[in-house]
Amino acid sequence: MQGTVISVAPIEGQEGFALRPLATLLHPKPLVPPTLLELAGWMSDYYACRLEVVVRGMIPEMIRTGSSGFKTQKAIRLRKEITIEELEALRKKAPRQAAILEELKPGSTLLLSTLSAQHSSAPQAVKRLEEDGWIEVVDEVQSRDPSRSEQFLASQPLALTDEQAEALRVIELDMEAEPADKRPILLKGVTGSGKTEVYLQAIAKVIDQGQRVIVLVPEISLTPQTTERFKRRFAMIQDQVAIIHSHLSEGERHDEWRKILDGKARITIGARSAIFAPMENVGLIVVDEEHENTYKQENPPRYQGRDVAVVRGRIEGATVLLGSATPSLESWRNTQNGKYQLVELTRRADDQRMPVTRIVDMRSEGRRKDGQKQVATIISEPLRIAIDQRIARGEQTILFLNRRGYSPSVVCQECGHRVECPHCSVTLTYHEADSRLVCHLCGFQRVPLKKCPECKSGTIFMAGFGTERVEQVLHKVFPRARIARIDTDTMKRKTQLEDTLNDFKAQKYDLLIGTQMIAKGLHFPNVTLVGVLNADLGLHIPDFRAGERTFQLLTQVAGRAGRGHLLGEVLVQTFTPHNPSIQYARHHDFEGFATQELEARRTLNFPPFVHVTLITARSEHERRAQFCAETLHKRLVSDLPPEFLISDPMPSPLVRVANQYRFQVLMRAKNPRRMVSHIRKHLDALTFPEDVIVTVDIDAYNLS
Ligand code: ADP
Ligand code: ZN
Ligand code: ZN
Repeated sequence: MQGTVISVAPIEGQEGFALRPLATLLHPKPLVPPTLLELAGWMSDYYACRLEVVVRGMIPEMIRTGSSGFKTQKAIRLRKEITIEELEALRKKAPRQAAILEELKPGSTLLLSTLSAQHSSAPQAVKRLEEDGWIEVVDEVQSRDPSRSEQFLASQPLALTDEQAEALRVIELDMEAEPADKRPILLKGVTGSGKTEVYLQAIAKVIDQGQRVIVLVPEISLTPQTTERFKRRFAMIQDQVAIIHSHLSEGERHDEWRKILDGKARITIGARSAIFAPMENVGLIVVDEEHENTYKQENPPRYQGRDVAVVRGRIEGATVLLGSATPSLESWRNTQNGKYQLVELTRRADDQRMPVTRIVDMRSEGRRKDGQKQVATIISEPLRIAIDQRIARGEQTILFLNRRGYSPSVVCQECGHRVECPHCSVTLTYHEADSRLVCHLCGFQRVPLKKCPECKSGTIFMAGFGTERVEQVLHKVFPRARIARIDTDTMKRKTQLEDTLNDFKAQKYDLLIGTQMIAKGLHFPNVTLVGVLNADLGLHIPDFRAGERTFQLLTQVAGRAGRGHLLGEVLVQTFTPHNPSIQYARHHDFEGFATQELEARRTLNFPPFVHVTLITARSEHERRAQFCAETLHKRLVSDLPPEFLISDPMPSPLVRVANQYRFQVLMRAKNPRRMVSHIRKHLDALTFPEDVIVTVDIDAYNLS
């Protein structure tokens, strides 16, 4: 049995069982050092999650199971010395065998794969040599540093702007402060204002002092561009930088973790789970794009990585630096009530002006004459003209649409029937490349329909559009343009994304259409136009954060425009041009947006003024899921503290996903700990049928 030792107790007085010694340790050093154990305890309490689940989540699977050790390769080694005479004799008899022995220096090894590549008969020769006792075949450990083959030219620290220098000063003051006096720092800087340069110089300071650093970045921006920037600045200690992201192979991930475990890594850069890097003496934790939803983990243990980073910082006595152009309203409010410090970068580092944003009202664009209508609802006339100009001038355009596939729903024109997934309450998306209808929730696939399954008419049509369809339309409208598309359908292999981005940077494409994969972190000096094809996509969903997310997305996407010496322009296509999120984003007015949005949240009792907890009961049996949600709700309200708010039990917005029916109860309270203990008390007292799963999501982000 595998277990985690979390404390050691004296054994006197324990009767009735015998203790056995530990069989073996997974690693000579603790995989979960004391500071992390303390963090695990906090998470277990705060997120209402069992300690063992939290601890499990801290250790990567392949380390826990020991399933992937070091990668080895077959190599050969001399078993005995060969004399000149023996070698001469062998050379006459078997020249290839002799050649191998000659190459093999005493004490060194040769990889079998290298030999085979040199000569096809090498394997036979090796076999004979082994049989004759000259050599032995051994397993040789290979290092798999993913960037081992890359040579990084060290980058030099830039001379800071006044604003950057002030930010660094605040960070340094916090580093010097006593642990009790430290407060997390929110670095709010417009896109391109040089936040990353501030991180880099702060990190250098910490490293100089012999301390260690954890840098969290959203998974999605762990692009080669980002990691390369870090690797280049710290080229001198390149092998002491551990990088963890989901595109690593199992073996690579293992090696990066070993670097951390063995105390070799001085900087760990990674997505959410890198906050559990078992490093000691951490002096600084950086959370880039702190507002990003990808910091929220949606499986047990459900936690918010940014908040866990703040807590780990407190436990370690480390400085915590959160950066964003569009801070989360949670963090923004924490700067207003004094919990966090605020530093701002208001100008772009190169003094570039912010891009000019124009709104295209799609209500009038849709009224175009028939032939053009189809195209006009995807690429409006103003956008078409703007793209045309860029192509003529040899500048580049990025088009953004957060929806992949060809068409998000297939509709019968006769009866209005929409083809839904048989397992989920969503429509199937048509993918033309593989001629399939696909469910984006559960992965279900089927061949496209020729006739309506309801009324048997043959007038099925594709409603709406995704990136695949946009790419087609673009080829029609701009026949000579070179067009690339980036979404999870086109980027299946791990090198594809990197290659396409490099090609785009090298101006081998005029147009890039993509999903949120291209929304952030990328820096292309020749891009002067960004088009947002459908700004309304995220707006009309039943979620109190819909407006905030739209504002963030539009601001981030717009940040891709005009990052070189050329002025950028952003065109936003929308059916709701007067929506505040769109208007504030257009004017780059974060504070205006935050003020209005916070006012609404305060009035309606939503975060950051309260904490929300989403309790979901799910089951294959609709009635049972509903019944359990209702039962739990009844108990929860029976002794509800008056300051708690609770919703009625209701179907989740997506009532069915992968054959599971889902019913939910939303609770809100100012004090999360009291809310959690109230929920726990009632949950522990209830037993649910085996097929019903009840989940508790504290500070929930996904309400669907
Ligand atoms: P952010 O992280 O805020 O989006 P970056 O750190 O990516 O901004 O900086 C944007 C660009 O400005 C980069 O090309 C960066 O090299 C450059 N830059 C940052 N700081 C300076 C500086 N002090 N002087 C000159 N260029 C800078
Ligand atoms: Zn029909
Ligand atoms: Zn489905």
